[in-house]
Amino acid sequence: MAIPMHDLATQYAALRDSINARIQKVLDHHQFILGPEVKELEERLQAYTGSKHCVTVASGTEALLIALMALDVKPGDEVITTPFSFIATAEVIALVGAKPVFVDVEPDTCNLDVTKLETAITPRTRAIMPVSLYGQPCDMDEINAIAARHGIPVIEDAAQSFGATYKGRKSCNLSTIGCTSFFPTKPLGCYGDGGALFTNDDAIATAAREIRVHGQSKRYVHTRIGLGGRMDTIQCAVVLAKLERFEWEVEQRQRIAARYAALLAPLADRVTVPVVRGDRTSVYAQYTVQVPDRTKLQAKLQEAGIPTAVHYPVPMHKQPAYAELGTYPPMAVAEYLAERVVSLPMDAYMDEARQRTVVERLATALTSLGQKAA
Ligand SMILES: *Cc1c(COP(=O)(O)O)cnc(C)c1O
Repeated sequence: MAIPMHDLATQYAALRDSINARIQKVLDHHQFILGPEVKELEERLQAYTGSKHCVTVASGTEALLIALMALDVKPGDEVITTPFSFIATAEVIALVGAKPVFVDVEPDTCNLDVTKLETAITPRTRAIMPVSLYGQPCDMDEINAIAARHGIPVIEDAAQSFGATYKGRKSCNLSTIGCTSFFPTKPLGCYGDGGALFTNDDAIATAAREIRVHGQSKRYVHTRIGLGGRMDTIQCAVVLAKLERFEWEVEQRQRIAARYAALLAPLADRVTVPVVRGDRTSVYAQYTVQVPDRTKLQAKLQEAGIPTAVHYPVPMHKQPAYAELGTYPPMAVAEYLAERVVSLPMDAYMDEARQRTVVERLATALTSLGQKAA
């Protein structure tokens, strides 16, 4: 059997009855927009994260965009973020007319380097948007403390980290706003696009709820400029079904990550495994290692039937559309990581045999590239 990057088929087989029943219920009541499952999911996610408010939206990108709109970020403003993320993070900043200001990342966690944060703050800084990359929260206490000193809100891009913890608290509930994604291959995914915004601030929650329905505060009363950004009832039904096994899946991901680290230990001179700080957990949205000669290695692995992916090959300040937004200083760590990172197959349903096959073929590929053990 071919090894998938993320095994959605086995997950569906395990949850088939409840997913089908939940979807069938929506087909029967046919409240496809803002139906009862939307509220049910929002309440479940509030309870899960401990956040006072959860607003489901059309995607993770939309959650980030609505967060910036709710904070009234405007043209001429600056928003600080990482250069090493999925493009959506910088894209939404540009979409509201603000300038993304990049702060380089740490070489081991690949998350924003908080020691470089404060010097990037200017009188125009209107928000800080760290990304909990690969499923691990950033140094949120330090980021929040710097932001508080300057009176700036913090938006956690938690698209990859739903379910992770930081000092015992849940990702998405670690700052002014937390935004996540239910893209099918994220740790908690639906069967299309979906996302959610979390906050403990009543005014931000109201703004977000209005913005996702065209800025409407009452039917046909548009108090602010919004967009069509709701999450479909059917997609909420899918997430509700998947929540049944979510905690178990998170534990599995962590167990599988630990097994990867053990299996990869003999290759430590050629493969650097991910680092997770002691005061937090990762949900391993990706299991991303660092290797030299990545492109050749990926080709070898593809020949051997092992899929890999690169998250992400080009830092955002080097993307053509963004290079024009400002002159960015070199981001040495992000640029280094962009050449070295490669993600291996990872999901909650990966059995030990499959995982051993991945590591054995990886070892063979490294040897055939002339990278023998030291
Ligand atoms: C997936 C992702 C997004 C966007 O989420 P969508 O639901 O695909 O719009 C944003 N930021 C990060 C870091 C992501 O991984």
